[in-house]
Amino acid sequence: MPSPNPSDSRRQFLWGSSLALLTAALPQLPVWGQARRSSAAAPTPAAPPSPAPTGAVPPTAAEALAQLKTGNLRFQKGQLTHPNETLKRRRDVALKQAPFATVLACADSRESPELIFDQGLGDLFVARTAGHVLDNAVVGTLEFAVAELQVPLLVVMGHQRCGAIKATLQAVATSKIAPGSLETLVDGVRPAVLLAQGEGDERFTSVVKANVRITIERLQNSRLLAQAVTAGQLQIVGAYYQLDTGVVEFLS
Ligand SMILES: [Zn+2]
Repeated sequence: MPSPNPSDSRRQFLWGSSLALLTAALPQLPVWGQARRSSAAAPTPAAPPSPAPTGAVPPTAAEALAQLKTGNLRFQKGQLTHPNETLKRRRDVALKQAPFATVLACADSRESPELIFDQGLGDLFVARTAGHVLDNAVVGTLEFAVAELQVPLLVVMGHQRCGAIKATLQAVATSKIAPGSLETLVDGVRPAVLLAQGEGDERFTSVVKANVRITIERLQNSRLLAQAVTAGQLQIVGAYYQLDTGVVEFLS
């Protein structure tokens, strides 16, 4: 069992703390960034860094992105390796997680990030809602990944034939209110419909990609996420998943 270090203690504290405490830590983000780059900034003598659970956690956004692309290539070809799904891995990450990427995706049953990127336990920190529509809980989840887990890459991923996009297109076309809380999803996606281009499938795809870009823009409203991007601690990228081919296209 790995010995606890100051970082672990801080994480356990934050896990058990209120959201207000996490929010209170926001102004300290630049300090956190400095501490991450140099252990000399730690208030107490730092223990040697705990080995990453996988032994191969990419330390940069570029390397994290490369790992996702490699995993998706395996998925496309049907050459899955199912990494990090062993009993040993389960035990290794039981006390500490160090995911290398965060994925905000649609809740659609066909675009599970761990599957389409061929990753295992403890590799990805995932948040999912229909149409990857944001609310405060989702933004807080992503902020936690960045501020506490120091994940360097955030992928916002839409997909082909998204039901949330379809429902919004229908709602806009018919001017009808969606039932129940579905209207919340429609409201979230509606601005992307206004940016639709082309006809048919091309139009649908353009709305999906616009919805990804709008979601990324909205994430800039999070002071914590925006500061992390500015400080070079976080890269946010958009992605489009094709159900037919298994290809994840990363959007520039
Ligand atoms: Zn969807």
